[in-house]
Amino acid sequence: MPKIEFDVIIAGGGLVGLSLALALESGGLKIAVVDKLEPVSMLDKTYDGRSSAIAYANMRMLGILGVKEKIQEIGKISEILVSDGRVPDGAKHGGSIGLTLHFDQGEITDSDEPLGYMVENRHMRLALDMVCQTKKNIVRFTPHMVTDFIENGAYVDAFLDNGQKISAKLLVGCDGRGSQIRKSAKIKTYKFDYSQTGIVTTVALEKSHNDVAFEYFLPTGPFAILPLMHNRASIVWSEPPSKAIAMSKLDKNDFEIEIQKRFGDFLGKVSVVAPVFTYPLQLELASKWYIKRVALCGDAAHGIHPVAGQGFNLGLKDVAALAEVILDSHSLGLDIGDEITLEKYAAWRRTDTMMVAASCDAFVRLFSNDFGPLRLLRNIGIGVVDAFGPARRFFARHAGGAIGDLPKLLQGIPLS
Ligand SMILES: Cc1cc2nc3c(=O)[nH]c(=O)nc-3n(C[C@H](O)[C@H](O)[C@H](O)COP(=O)(O)OP(=O)(O)OC[C@H]3O[C@@H](n4cnc5c(N)ncnc54)[C@H](O)[C@@H]3O)c2cc1C
Repeated sequence: MPKIEFDVIIAGGGLVGLSLALALESGGLKIAVVDKLEPVSMLDKTYDGRSSAIAYANMRMLGILGVKEKIQEIGKISEILVSDGRVPDGAKHGGSIGLTLHFDQGEITDSDEPLGYMVENRHMRLALDMVCQTKKNIVRFTPHMVTDFIENGAYVDAFLDNGQKISAKLLVGCDGRGSQIRKSAKIKTYKFDYSQTGIVTTVALEKSHNDVAFEYFLPTGPFAILPLMHNRASIVWSEPPSKAIAMSKLDKNDFEIEIQKRFGDFLGKVSVVAPVFTYPLQLELASKWYIKRVALCGDAAHGIHPVAGQGFNLGLKDVAALAEVILDSHSLGLDIGDEITLEKYAAWRRTDTMMVAASCDAFVRLFSNDFGPLRLLRNIGIGVVDAFGPARRFFARHAGGAIGDLPKLLQGIPLS
């Protein structure tokens, strides 16, 4: 077969891969996106039951790329409440001993945006897919996998599972956890299994959630109630793997009884309105961000615990930084796949990623137990941070993605 040439090949057309394709296309590059699944199967209700909390800075980028206006439903988070708890107490305000860490819009006084947005992943996928379809410089290869690649002087040749060869100046692995590109590039990975599985579903609430996101730390792991439109909420409920699987197989009535115990009664009756999904929770960090002509982006570079809803957000920040360094090099006539360009990307993303991954990891380890003295200490910590405005503002701005040296797209500035 004749070889086809592109500027960039993206292996993995998930949430991060398609966002990257759009960001690079906005600067005039020709992009190939290879995914092992047909887009239509990724839009099915049974493919991904998650919803994502999207930081306000990241939503600015999705606005510039034309994705935001195509998202069918966007909920907002105007308040976040974090508290410790035990199951019989329910997820009441203040948790079991009355101490709550509380963030609201007042923490981000320089912006009239909400603290964050809530989007169901299926709506986000549909919006990304619709916008990509309008771009003639984005060519999709599905359902195909990149099985291997070879660095070939000024190009990288990628081999697809149908025997086709495509070439570009750069290959980006956006193929998620367990990335094949990362393995083929012989990049080592640090892994840790939290021995927790996330049970995910969507519920309808009897009383209004008032756009409040609630993170409630149970001894078995975090339990998050994330506000969606039409007074529904996305639930991420962590349990040990065997218990999570057993819970997910309960019939609807028994599952609702279990979930109601965790909610308590402050939001009234809770009804399950979507399928129940389970996700094993692990930390997976690549030891390098790139080798010559190959870079990693999104979960392929860093898969973290969803405790703070930061995984996709980190991926979007990677997209903004990588697209900017690539387009800068391109506009100067430099090689977009060489180590100088890719090191700029890695240098931009390394520290932020490590900080977020380490904070989520520490949070999960500190809170996922019922050890009395530790429970007391963390509740004191919650009370201290809550009473100290600058600390609250720091956390809120960090969660909003508006801290540090922001790439242009995250500031709301187009790349061309
Ligand atoms: C329970 C849970 C809740 C979460 N909540 C949030 C949240 O609120 N906010 C947030 O920011 N993040 C959240 N996350 C994290 C977020 O879902 C991930 O970070 C995000 O989906 C990563 O996107 P990605 O595109 O990098 O990878 P993926 O979504 O895994 O996509 C990878 C793509 O690559 C394709 N692929 C795989 N291998 C190949 C191959 N060899 N060749 C071609 N294609 C390939 C796959 O088909 C897929 O389309 C949550 C995660 C979990 C588990």
